[in-house]
Amino acid sequence: MKRIAIIGAGPSGLSQLRSFRSAEEEGADIPEIVCFEKQSTWGGLWNYSWRTGTDNNGEPVHNSMYRYLWSNGPKECLEFGDYSFDEHFKKSIPSFPPREVLKSYILGRADNSDLSHMVKFNHVVRNISISKDTGKFNLRVTDIENNTDLVDIFDIVIIATGHFSVPNVPYFEGIENFMGRVMHSHDFRDAAEFNGKRLLIIGSSYSAEDIALQSMKYGAKEVICSYRSAPMGFRWPSGIEEFPIVERFDSTKSFFCNGSNREIDAVIMCTGYLHHFPFLQKNLRLNTNNLLYPGQLYKGIFWLDNPNLIYLGMQDQYYTLNMFDAQSWYARDVLLDRIQLPSRESMEKDIKNWMQREIHLKNPTQEIEYQTNYCKDLVELTDYKIDYDLISKQFIKWEKDKDEDIVAYRDRSFISPVTGTQAPAHHTSWWDEMDDSYGSFIGKI
Ligand SMILES: Cc1cc2nc3c(=O)[nH]c(=O)nc-3n(C[C@H](O)[C@H](O)[C@H](O)COP(=O)(O)OP(=O)(O)OC[C@H]3O[C@@H](n4cnc5c(N)ncnc54)[C@H](O)[C@@H]3O)c2cc1C
Repeated sequence: MKRIAIIGAGPSGLSQLRSFRSAEEEGADIPEIVCFEKQSTWGGLWNYSWRTGTDNNGEPVHNSMYRYLWSNGPKECLEFGDYSFDEHFKKSIPSFPPREVLKSYILGRADNSDLSHMVKFNHVVRNISISKDTGKFNLRVTDIENNTDLVDIFDIVIIATGHFSVPNVPYFEGIENFMGRVMHSHDFRDAAEFNGKRLLIIGSSYSAEDIALQSMKYGAKEVICSYRSAPMGFRWPSGIEEFPIVERFDSTKSFFCNGSNREIDAVIMCTGYLHHFPFLQKNLRLNTNNLLYPGQLYKGIFWLDNPNLIYLGMQDQYYTLNMFDAQSWYARDVLLDRIQLPSRESMEKDIKNWMQREIHLKNPTQEIEYQTNYCKDLVELTDYKIDYDLISKQFIKWEKDKDEDIVAYRDRSFISPVTGTQAPAHHTSWWDEMDDSYGSFIGKI
């Protein structure tokens, strides 16, 4: 029987475990699966930690989430096809929950699925190589609690280590002389730290947008967002402005490429993350930017040169949880011999076709539709069911809501693609809601 190793028990790894469990519940024989997770519990990025840098074991802190993080997309767009929010919370809840509430939902499906016996927590995968003789994977893993290294052999390896954890930190002239705080969004924890401060945010992605907004919400004096190619262009609340890329710093000021400059107190680089797999033999490492369709992966998951190596969740993400499910269900069905992979030539052609199409996408609507088609393509041959067309429409609506009012988009309500329920409104608008606790959100509905 095949032996499968899954690296990481975040949402992607949990989707893979859940997919095998659901086949087992329907009577299938499933392979032996061992999931190695370096943290002491599952949930991946959703395990908020106050720590930055290294953890209590000297391992790099995986967490990039921050204290007042609320879902940045409607929960209806990430809902699991086989486990609704209504089922988990026993009632309908608003569309944009805070971090702890989403974490409860993600862990709820895992808890209900009896997956924990397949996971080895506090186990860091240090090295994965292929044996030339057998073609199998050799893993070297550190058991942190017992301070021992173990070696094991697997037929299949599934990489589910995420790609929002290792910061990309560019250099800017003179930044070493700047006297204020400089950090990457990976280490951002508490917006209240910037109360009364003048903040420069470098970047124009989701992190830049959200950290700018919440820093203002928690009392920053002013926020400048500096963009390289294009401004985010939202109708920002007073106090937030967008400037073209910063070129250099002196001890108190940032200087922008349009000739202007500003006094600032702190810099947060929202400059993205690296796909980083130091534990993998070099010729097995996925080398990509943050794309909707990273190359080298058939169906966005199978390593072209050796489909016994699988990557989950490596895409740029509109879709998250139910895309990880789509990938996992497809991978499972290949591993259970329910779906046959085509020839290498066909796989390569298919990858090229998707990558070509991505190059021509012009706006978020087209990107959403592209990722919708990707998910639909994956689940077509599996028994995973969810209404991706409804999700797609709601994502497009959500983009419009943000353009209309970036401060109020989280006050909107969406329809569950699983139960058809329209979410109730939250009792307080997001901009005025300072209490993001589970109790406040779930209790007061
Ligand atoms: C700031 C921020 C906000 C976000 N907000 C949202 C949101 O509102 N809604 C949404 O749907 N998505 C959001 N996301 C996207 C997020 O990527 C997904 O929700 C999800 O966490 C990705 O799951 P994953 O399992 O692929 O990766 P991760 O969640 O990163 O999990 C990877 C796991 O692998 C483990 N691991 C890593 N290396 C090793 C190793 N060598 N050995 C053993 N274990 C290892 C890690 O400890 C971790 O548990 C956000 C991301 C960020 C960074």
